[in-house]
Amino acid sequence: MLAYVETIGCQMNVYDTERIQNALKSIGYTITTDLEGADIIVFNSCAIREKAQQKTYSFLGRLSALKAKKTSLIVVLAGCVAQQDGARVRNRLPVVDIVMGTHAIGSLPQMVTDIRESKRTSVVNVDFSNDISQFEAFATVPQKVEPSRFVTIMQGCDNFCTYCVVPYVRSHEISRSPENIMTEIKSVIEAGGKEITLLGQNVNSYGKKEGFPNFTELLYQISQLKGLERIRFTTSHPKDLSEELISAFGSNPKLCGHIHLPVQSGSSAVLHRMNRHYTRDEYLDKVIKLRQVNPNIAITTDIIVGFPGETNEDFLETVSLLEEVRYDSLFAFMYSDRQGAPARLFPEKISDFIKKERIHSVLKTQERITLEKLSLLVGTCQSVLIEGESPRLADGISDAKEDQYMGRTNCNRIVHVAYTKNSVRKGALIPVYIERAFSHSLYGRLSDQS
Ligand code: SAH
Ligand code: SF4
Repeated sequence: MLAYVETIGCQMNVYDTERIQNALKSIGYTITTDLEGADIIVFNSCAIREKAQQKTYSFLGRLSALKAKKTSLIVVLAGCVAQQDGARVRNRLPVVDIVMGTHAIGSLPQMVTDIRESKRTSVVNVDFSNDISQFEAFATVPQKVEPSRFVTIMQGCDNFCTYCVVPYVRSHEISRSPENIMTEIKSVIEAGGKEITLLGQNVNSYGKKEGFPNFTELLYQISQLKGLERIRFTTSHPKDLSEELISAFGSNPKLCGHIHLPVQSGSSAVLHRMNRHYTRDEYLDKVIKLRQVNPNIAITTDIIVGFPGETNEDFLETVSLLEEVRYDSLFAFMYSDRQGAPARLFPEKISDFIKKERIHSVLKTQERITLEKLSLLVGTCQSVLIEGESPRLADGISDAKEDQYMGRTNCNRIVHVAYTKNSVRKGALIPVYIERAFSHSLYGRLSDQS
């Protein structure tokens, strides 16, 4: 029996997809990449913006023809759209047999078995659970060498930014115990993992409710594990970024020199209406402190353009913030109304035309800054963890005969590495001499110092 699982959205969804695959393997399925040949199809969805939601419904819509040919096909909608739309999914698309919310992966084998044995014709499970074991069911057990892995340390969010759907589809914050996190990371190391990225919507509040050691202490415990070379985390809410965590960037040698610190807007008035709980100056103060501790730290961010009521002056403050911080890179999004999120009812909506103009301007400004910053690395030697073969050759490198590998520097910059010796292989941490800079990546060769 074959299972096809498609994923869109954030890293948390990527991690959950592995759990879904493990759950299906436990009842006899083999994972396939052939959609047409599958006996069960799972779509792990994202609801963060309108576009992601549309993608979900258009994917499911296309499955009706497949199901007409193969009536035994089981279709599962998983993730945030399932959580948000619940039983309405089946009214809209009867092709879906199972609607599985974000807290229900542990029950997937039973739901599938019930459908297979005709005990039920359809199942909708969108209950929220405060039981952490729900999130640990079928947690990843890597079977092959993956140099870099995600490890979810907490679920949900208590922040209620006014534009965001996450608190409604992932519910309250809940943290895993340090013991369970450590056990999972040890299994990652045993399988050959060198780098982990700890995942949570707001890692700074890790363990506060449960009375666990705080996030900086957790980082310290993890850094004691032999064989683990690099630790990353995402995401950190600027309002909660503590002095203690900032200082870890100077004192914990395994903690990589990169922080994703989503600012959303450069205007304090907009930040207030977004319910972000920091001003432009308070944010800039954290950036200064991070650079005092580690002058080379890479800082990346998320920007929303066209939030309701965003004036041209507000927007220009975002552009000037980009110039002031000089981020290494960023993700920019056009504001999108979300079901349940309060900003949906805010007045002074911004037109799509202006949103497009603004996002274009943000991306153009950042492209120049990224290239300037990457160019400064030409001629330096960087330690690169090789993740595998390059999916495509670095822009501008025309010698297609030359195999290329892809990896990341400590500061999370993508490097394409020319293959020269056996030491350039998946999982190797090697010194690379940087020869060229492109708009989003670097290109280099194994350094002679090796
Ligand atoms: N927990 C993370 C963010 C998760 S969502 C944090 O707080 O940093 C990832 C990004 O999507 C957000 O940082 C924001 O920039 C964007 N986003 C969230 N809701 C959005 C919406 N309604 N419209 C446009 N972008 C949105
Ligand atoms: Fe959404 Fe804000 Fe929570 Fe991030 S911190 S997930 S943006 S509510």
